[in-house]
Amino acid sequence: MSHLRDGDQRVWYVSRAMPSDRCKNCESRTRLLWPPGRKPDLLALETGSWIDLRQCQACGALWSGSPYEPYASFEYLVLWPADRGAWVQAHAVDDGQLLLRWHGWMIHQHWRALSGDDLAAVEQHRRRAPGNNPVDAPPRFDEREVLNPS
Ligand SMILES: [Zn+2]
Repeated sequence: MSHLRDGDQRVWYVSRAMPSDRCKNCESRTRLLWPPGRKPDLLALETGSWIDLRQCQACGALWSGSPYEPYASFEYLVLWPADRGAWVQAHAVDDGQLLLRWHGWMIHQHWRALSGDDLAAVEQHRRRAPGNNPVDAPPRFDEREVLNPS
């Protein structure tokens, strides 16, 4: 019985961790967020107002980057869930304000999934900008706004 359970756990681990699918560069599929500091190697695609779009050349994943206060020195990357055209369209709605709210909201929603040095980088940002960071003061955002920009 314990052997069966071990086998099940191994299957579960492989299917959940998807080691063969995980991009070695940007870690897409197992990661939604890059905190200030460590960054994957990405190609710039689009530049907006305080927010941009980049692409991983290893797997094609799209990442949206934006710097946060103080001094725009704490940059986060959030995995963009749609294609390049959708990002351009969403940015055009209100010169990037919608995308910036989405970006901060995503950080607020997913920062707890980070660990180790990544989590420490977020904690450092929170200490540096208390009450003025996306974790503690997230923007108001509804997911449907980006899925259906009007
Ligand atoms: Zn990648």
